[in-house]
Amino acid sequence: MDSSHVEHDLVNVLFTEAQIHDRLGEMAQQISADYEGHDLLMVGVLRGAVMVMADLSRAMPGHLEMDWMAVTSYGSGTKSSGVVRILKDLDTDISGRHVLIVDEIIDTGLTLSWLVNNLSSRRPASVEIATLLRKPEALQMPVEPKYVGWDIPNEFVVGYGLDYKERYRNLRDIGTLAPHVYS
Ligand code: 5GP
Ligand code: MG
Ligand code: MG
Repeated sequence: MDSSHVEHDLVNVLFTEAQIHDRLGEMAQQISADYEGHDLLMVGVLRGAVMVMADLSRAMPGHLEMDWMAVTSYGSGTKSSGVVRILKDLDTDISGRHVLIVDEIIDTGLTLSWLVNNLSSRRPASVEIATLLRKPEALQMPVEPKYVGWDIPNEFVVGYGLDYKERYRNLRDIGTLAPHVYS
């Protein structure tokens, strides 16, 4: 493996590919049971939720639909800009639909609290959140995801869709970056 291999930049692995796979399988079972008999629309939040959506949706046995939104609340680094803006809206009319927002991480909760309000104003039958990770200590807005993979400490993580300056999304595991990456 040459030194450009991205895994060399991880200093600590929090969750392996296998652990993520298993946890998403459990979440999928719970979601499938909860939405039994209902048409479910899963809304992935680009770009970070791509991997979660791909694996969570494939772990679900029943029919479902997928759509995507892109919003910004962060710059390219690790700090929140405090501003949420729609870059790509849904293609689907969600009025009367059961909507499950799929995201990879809740940090301050700013993005998702804004998104829940935005989607709720479109008169869906319901709006819930499934997130792989949550940082309880960082929460600033009242966001209550119905499905959470794991709560994690308040540190910056990458991999499995999570980026640092648009890199590291393609890591299979989730972990923290070595200090040399930031300098
Ligand atoms: P929030 O609005 O909850 O503060 O966070 C929104 C977005 O910030 C997340 O969807 C994610 O894109 C990014 N973010 C928050 N915490 C982390 C982190 O620890 N690592 C990475 N790579 N992105 C994060
Ligand atoms: Mg996200
Ligand atoms: Mg990012």
